[in-house]
Amino acid sequence: MSIVPAAVHDAALANHGRIVDWDRVRADFPLLMREVHGRPLVYLDNANTGQKPLPVIASQDEFYRRQNANVSRAVHALGTEATEAYEAARGKLARFLNVRADELVLCSGTTFAINLVAYSWALPQLKAGDTILVSRMEHHANIVPWQLVAQRTGATIRVAEILPDGSLDLDALYKAMTPDVKLLAVTHVSNVLGTVNPVREICREARRRGIITVVDGSQAAPHLKLDVASIGCDFYAITGHKMCGPTGTGVLWARRELLQAMPPFLGGGEMIREVSFHGTVFNDPPHRFEAGTPNIAGFIGLGAAVDYLEGIGMAHIAAREAELLAHATEALRSIPGLRIFGTAPGKAAVISFLVEGAHAHDLATLLDLEGVAVRSGQHCAHPLLQYFGVAATLRASLAFYNTHDEIERFAAALEKTRRLLVA
Ligand code: PMP
Repeated sequence: MSIVPAAVHDAALANHGRIVDWDRVRADFPLLMREVHGRPLVYLDNANTGQKPLPVIASQDEFYRRQNANVSRAVHALGTEATEAYEAARGKLARFLNVRADELVLCSGTTFAINLVAYSWALPQLKAGDTILVSRMEHHANIVPWQLVAQRTGATIRVAEILPDGSLDLDALYKAMTPDVKLLAVTHVSNVLGTVNPVREICREARRRGIITVVDGSQAAPHLKLDVASIGCDFYAITGHKMCGPTGTGVLWARRELLQAMPPFLGGGEMIREVSFHGTVFNDPPHRFEAGTPNIAGFIGLGAAVDYLEGIGMAHIAAREAELLAHATEALRSIPGLRIFGTAPGKAAVISFLVEGAHAHDLATLLDLEGVAVRSGQHCAHPLLQYFGVAATLRASLAFYNTHDEIERFAAALEKTRRLLVA
């Protein structure tokens, strides 16, 4: 079967200044054609996980039909092919992030990536009296590992607060960077508010004070043209399933000198050079941190996802999503009693909201019956919701393959369900 992704054709044109045919791009996502409860699906839960285009789906089929073998061990043809395809994916990810391939640890996702930093860098380095600075808008994946480190080292957590529009309070952040602060954990883009933090400036300030920076790029990688090298952070984590790739894939980028100095997190095969019962010589990074058989097919799929996104062009994707966000924000304005959380300038295409008199879960359940998939709840960000004094929000998160028509259908379904709930 030969699958020719429409978007890749168009992308070549688009990247030469032509307009992307978004209908053809959308046609690359078979799942978006299905119905839910007898209605055409309107999938607005992209911040939770993204849908997969044909080339990514095909890559999984192709791998298991033709190449399946373990990586880095076998000398036979299949083993060599699988290893080459796996390492080629690492190379694609390095190009996508604008970093060196040997600085990329392939892992299961952002959660794993941040835990790796917590266990391999922070645990040996931090001690009582040290402070870990964490922003209020972090996902639990960038909070809980630091709490575990704090418990074990005696370090303390300090919170960098936000402003009512959902942007980081930068003045307060810089004031909070006192000499005891050893690590700053901050997200590039908030999964709840859509806020895009000025991570380059933040990391410059942190670096001037000798603070190690861990940037959570989970929500940035699917939507922005990234240049991790120019951000100036020490660690940058992304997750594959939000950027058109398979679940169970992610990447930790780290400065080479930090990776070299870090002890392994997990022990096993692949991460060693020599093992005897007298001791073990560990492999060089990044393999030192990749114990066991990795998600080979997943990373080949993530490589295909990177090709796909780059084929369209991240600048086109960002522009398309900004246009959809403006439309959705405008459409929601007409809903009585609707309050949006997160209105920072330049925000990403995520809209968290509540409707007066209606519970978030009730609205999400009724919207589902209309075919509209949005998330309701705390979005793995309890401290952020505590700041706003609410127990839950609804969240509509857009991707480039959403349409203006879907936004109209979403707004109409929301108004219909609101009327049912608010007597
Ligand atoms: N950070 C952010 C900002 C996220 O949105 C998510 C996914 N919801 C994560 C971290 C965790 O990613 P994963 O579950 O893929 O490890």
